[in-house]
Amino acid sequence: MPVPRAWAGHRTYGGRALLAPRTLEALARLVTSGEPVRAVGSRHSFNDLVDSDGALVTLTHLEREPVLAVAPDGAATVTVSAGTTYGRLGPWLHERGYALAALASLPHISVVGAVTTATHGSGDAIRTLAGAVVGLELLTAQGDVRALHRGDPDFAGAVVALGGLGLVLTVTLAVEPTYEVAQTVRDDVALDGVLAHLDAVFAGATSVSVFTRWDGRAAVWRKQRTDADPGAAARDLGDRTSLDDLSGLGGRDADGPRHPLPDGDPVACTPQLGEPGPWFARLPHFRLEFTPSAGAELQSEYLLPREAAADAIRAAAPVLAEARDLVLVSELRSMAADDLWLSGAYGRDTVGLHTTWRQDSRVPGVLPRLEEALAPYAPRPHWGKLFADPDPAGLAAHYPRWADQVDLFLRYDPDGVFAGPLLRRVGLRA
Ligand SMILES: Cc1cc2nc3c(=O)[nH]c(=O)nc-3n(C[C@H](O)[C@H](O)[C@H](O)COP(=O)(O)OP(=O)(O)OC[C@H]3O[C@@H](n4cnc5c(N)ncnc54)[C@H](O)[C@@H]3O)c2cc1C
Repeated sequence: MPVPRAWAGHRTYGGRALLAPRTLEALARLVTSGEPVRAVGSRHSFNDLVDSDGALVTLTHLEREPVLAVAPDGAATVTVSAGTTYGRLGPWLHERGYALAALASLPHISVVGAVTTATHGSGDAIRTLAGAVVGLELLTAQGDVRALHRGDPDFAGAVVALGGLGLVLTVTLAVEPTYEVAQTVRDDVALDGVLAHLDAVFAGATSVSVFTRWDGRAAVWRKQRTDADPGAAARDLGDRTSLDDLSGLGGRDADGPRHPLPDGDPVACTPQLGEPGPWFARLPHFRLEFTPSAGAELQSEYLLPREAAADAIRAAAPVLAEARDLVLVSELRSMAADDLWLSGAYGRDTVGLHTTWRQDSRVPGVLPRLEEALAPYAPRPHWGKLFADPDPAGLAAHYPRWADQVDLFLRYDPDGVFAGPLLRRVGLRA
């Protein structure tokens, strides 16, 4: 098959051909053939992460029905194979009475591709999508299937592994009883006020997103579990300002459905206006049946330590404001710390500063200036989005287990079958 383009259409992947083996044996022959191989998921990343020096491979022909397992104590997991998207998994789990804790802004992406880049949604108590993983099966460079479980010494380096450790055949995710969420939007809130009370804003609902075009105003999207005590998060802030109803920040409740992009059609978005619905139809901003976001776009995101986030965002604001004609919208989200070595949220509660850009050749030129402004705040780039060519030593300094990750790649894949241009560019592979 010909080499595909990224979902946003802005680039064709590097690689000689796209192969689609129908059996595990054929896949094993491919990875042991001596040719470099990289996997393609649902193609929603924006940089050269997928690119291969040899073949590209899709595992969609090996997709199987998810498998639910419930332990005697009630703890439940679901095992999904490569190729499965959140759009398929969400309704499947809900019909069986189960749910995931987190989803990204869109359901269209593959579970394996999202997990391996530490894709995330938002929520102070919610980890990245990789945080749900309790086990995975890899096809290694030696052609063996290797299972890893939470608690195994290599596990924390194997979940967010950027496709560099082996081909992921399955991931097993922790699930919980299904729940409903109600989504509301508040328009025209003062951005200064949001940044001054960032903790209170994020504590105001189960999952909060702040959208801005750097014009001093923001829209606050709040997704609240209907089984949660709405005041609990605000009370947890102790003596810090509680802004549970956001009225202290000005603005007004949206009088109709909204799209994150000012010109976007809200028909593409999940229901708002406080109408409760299942988790999989509220936590993402976008509905599976529609093109999410703008389509023809670029994206960047920097994961910032929670306590420095407001200062970091204030430092970045002038750069983003100056580039406003290229910015479709920026989004601030929160996530809880995890223990996955390459995760943007490794070891620290985190705020993401995301930007959806016009598909314009000037965008890569803005990123070094943005990164310079953020540099004092230990930013970690989202692995699936655009970032400037890093100084590898500087990047490594933001990941306490970087050296262990480099060793892990070498140990599992000494000949670099799964290494690709991005892993070399950032110094994870020689
Ligand atoms: C419109 C849009 C909205 C987005 N919203 C969010 C968001 O809300 N939050 C967020 O954090 N990110 C978001 N992203 C980014 C996106 O979630 C990530 O780029 C994610 O990695 C995409 O998953 P994918 O399956 O498309 O992966 P791909 O882009 O296809 O691949 C990503 C990586 O996964 C690897 N991979 C895929 N399958 C396998 C496999 N079987 N074995 C080994 N490696 C594999 C690839 O080699 C590559 O390294 C968004 C992107 C778009 C286009």
